[in-house]
Amino acid sequence: MELNFNLSVMPQDSRALPLDPDVIYDVLIIGGGPASMTAAVYCMRKGVTTGLVTTGIGGQVAETSVVENYLGYTYIEGIELVDKFREHVKQFEIGFGEGIIVEQIVNERIKKAVLDNGLTLHARTLIISTGKSPRRLNVPGERELAGKGVAYCSICDAPLFKGKKVAVVGGGNSGIESAIDLARVAEHVTIIQFLDKLTADKILIDSLNGFSNLNIIYEHEVSEIHGNNKVESITVNSRKNGTTAGIELDGIFIEIGLIPNSGLVKGIVDLNEFGEIQIDCSCKTSVPGIFAAGDVTSVPYKQIIIAGGEGAKAALSACDYLLREV
Ligand SMILES: Cc1cc2nc3c(=O)[nH]c(=O)nc-3n(C[C@H](O)[C@H](O)[C@H](O)COP(=O)(O)OP(=O)(O)OC[C@H]3O[C@@H](n4cnc5c(N)ncnc54)[C@H](O)[C@@H]3O)c2cc1C
Repeated sequence: MELNFNLSVMPQDSRALPLDPDVIYDVLIIGGGPASMTAAVYCMRKGVTTGLVTTGIGGQVAETSVVENYLGYTYIEGIELVDKFREHVKQFEIGFGEGIIVEQIVNERIKKAVLDNGLTLHARTLIISTGKSPRRLNVPGERELAGKGVAYCSICDAPLFKGKKVAVVGGGNSGIESAIDLARVAEHVTIIQFLDKLTADKILIDSLNGFSNLNIIYEHEVSEIHGNNKVESITVNSRKNGTTAGIELDGIFIEIGLIPNSGLVKGIVDLNEFGEIQIDCSCKTSVPGIFAAGDVTSVPYKQIIIAGGEGAKAALSACDYLLREV
């Protein structure tokens, strides 16, 4: 095991290194959200050779407008917190790759991560902290019109719908937060809810009363999204009597929950009934040498501080494994 004692560093300087396919990393972290970034800090401070590969830094935090429950900050914009995570991690001589998808994991004594840029990375241990992604509706038109009026993040895309007509699918916290964001800028917002009531927190539902440009259609589902290169209308079906109706609009925000990004390790480690990676209280998966942390795991309560804490635990468990088993 190679030790790295370069821990006294200048805060502003990036010391991160390109990912190296010729290195055997002690720990390879897959993901760039709070679980991964915390794991990276703990691994580097333990002096183990570490790589981190991710499609994007910040994960879901990058899509959060404001965070008010992360200790030390009474109010911080999601993107500002992400910048702080990035700056902290890049103080270390960590192998760091952003904008890269891990396409496949090969579980051998030296584990392999096959990347979409053609490289293969090697590691003694893996920390899988790939988080969650928005659930799709899986209706005709959704895939074709994604980014052309079909959206999954109101924080990112609400400003694009200034003065336009939009729908939000989903009556939970994400859906109602999204509807509120949109009602501030859009001409009109229609909330489409599968159930006969909203399931968001009362405080959020109450704040809908402040908007006159918003209506709610209960017990309906979207069956098709129409448009020629941009969203023009949707078809909704009544779940009560099967009748259909068309709604003309410019955009549709799909806010029906999140699914764990566990496909990479499906068939390698045990998943639970929700597709989350089953871990024990030390972040161990069913396979020795593969650890997991954050929203992709079976740990309840998906929050930044919890993902961070789990990332720390996964890192310490991986370091312990390197000392004892490798
Ligand atoms: C709109 C919204 C608002 C929220 N607000 C709050 C809040 O106010 N307070 C709070 O505590 N929590 C909040 N949360 C929840 C919080 O953001 C998550 O619990 C937390 O980000 C989970 O961290 P994570 O590291 O486990 O996963 P994620 O943040 O999901 O990060 C996963 C990372 O893995 C990467 N990845 C996935 N698959 C691959 C792959 N194959 N190859 C490479 N990289 C991959 C992704 O790109 C991403 O960077 C919010 C979430 C959302 C969606």
